[in-house]
Amino acid sequence: MPELLTAKEYAALAATLECWGEAFIDGRYQPAAGGRTFPSINPATGAVLAHVAACEAADVDRAVAAAKRTFDDGCWRRRAPAARKATLLALADLMAQHWHELAVLESLDSGKPVGECHEVDLPETLRTLRWHAELIDKIYDHTAPVGEDALALVVREPIGVVGLVLPWNFPLLMLAWKIGPALAAGCSVVVKPAEQTSLTTLRVAELACQAGVPPGVFNVVTGTGQDAGAPIGLHPDIAMVGFTGSTVTGRRFLRYAADSNLKRVVLECGGKNPAVVLADAEDLDRVAEHVVNGAFWNMGENCSATSRLIVHASIKQALLDRIYACMATWKMGDPLDPDNRMGALVSPAHVQKVQGFLDQARAESLAVTQGGAVREAIYVEPTVVVDVGPDSALFREEIFGPVLAVTTFETLDEAIALANDTAYGLAASVHTGSLRHALRLAQAIRAGIVTVNCFGEGDVTTPFGGHKESGFGGRDKSIWAHDQYTELKTIWIDVSDPRLEGVQ
Ligand code: NAD
Repeated sequence: MPELLTAKEYAALAATLECWGEAFIDGRYQPAAGGRTFPSINPATGAVLAHVAACEAADVDRAVAAAKRTFDDGCWRRRAPAARKATLLALADLMAQHWHELAVLESLDSGKPVGECHEVDLPETLRTLRWHAELIDKIYDHTAPVGEDALALVVREPIGVVGLVLPWNFPLLMLAWKIGPALAAGCSVVVKPAEQTSLTTLRVAELACQAGVPPGVFNVVTGTGQDAGAPIGLHPDIAMVGFTGSTVTGRRFLRYAADSNLKRVVLECGGKNPAVVLADAEDLDRVAEHVVNGAFWNMGENCSATSRLIVHASIKQALLDRIYACMATWKMGDPLDPDNRMGALVSPAHVQKVQGFLDQARAESLAVTQGGAVREAIYVEPTVVVDVGPDSALFREEIFGPVLAVTTFETLDEAIALANDTAYGLAASVHTGSLRHALRLAQAIRAGIVTVNCFGEGDVTTPFGGHKESGFGGRDKSIWAHDQYTELKTIWIDVSDPRLEGVQ
């Protein structure tokens, strides 16, 4: 990893960056067929970074046609596995050569702190791409145990043209979670980034072509969900959609599939994730660090963010004191200053949404004990609200901002019931000094990921996805991510020899 730059150096780099906003179809930048654009805005400054193509159904048609042509002619999917692997590794290497540029672009487009982009998003993105690339020539198919008269092969084939619809909170990383296994499987893809954060996705598509991914295999259509996302969901030549975003939009993709070609749909959606802290938790200073990291990392704009703290009543105040002390060390401000751990929220509209929850907390007479203010109209202070009951909106709804709702319990069963009292089931963490308690909670909490005595999501080797309304149909990351981009096929070959009948 290269060294972090200084705030001054990041500002200088940002001033010289060229940002492209045209769609990337069939290996080249292209305007939308309708000629319309929309501004991509740096949320921290309000500056326009680029005029982005406002793609519509006609553009999706063009991108899908290019992807279908390449899938049908086999220029990617039939390329030798070792060669496909080398190409994806070359893409990761090329991105690494553009490390600072991509980190700054990500920060400018999303408001994320550049230090996080540099030290977390970029390395995780590259590791994800490399890990899936390495799998290409290491996954084996199967033969079925059918006896000597037949050979039954059970093989996995790339599913076809894949639509990938992405959120704005981790633009590069979510892209890598999808294109890594999709391209590794041999699919051709049409990616639609979130309209707030198109720029790094476009740049990566361009770099992919430079690395040797054939034109038409990796296409990017930019635009709103309504104009560019829905046509992907409804397209008859798209075999599968991989989606990450809100549960509301995820439901739409199931409807699109039902109303079109029954394409496969895999959804990674929202969360309302608890951190359960038992009275026997061993080191409250460490617990506090994990809770603060879970709640406020990426400004809480994280589907697996710790948004509910469920703490044993006897240690509530002791833990809160430590949480407040830890929060005080988190600096907030200019995303291009690598000293800041909290940057801008993604847009004024999103600030309003988060502000709405804080207003509601006050209307419910809940005690906001830390933070609660919006600075310069775009920075939301890390906020703690205590004594939040299960009926409160703060307990139930995904805020997707830096707000931690605190609830107490007395018994283990009560803690489990509170943790599970949600329509979501993405992630949870439990903090306890007892292995027995840890396992009991990990088994009882209905979530795709349960971490013990830490906050996190595992790494690229472990599957990521949710139970209940947090997900549907598959998992990102790990070897299981490949399944969603492939179809199973049985090839049954009769090898019986009639001449041998009756021969002893
Ligand atoms: P969103 O659902 O508003 O948008 C996600 C994507 O869907 C965007 O590209 C958007 O343009 C598109 N879209 C929106 N409306 C559409 C429509 N009617 N038809 C087709 N496409 C449409 O979500 P967001 O606000 O960008 O992201 C935040 C959400 O993403 C949160 O709920 C968060 O929990 C979730 N998320 C989940 C994961 C996960 O892995 N589970 C990861 C990151 C974010």
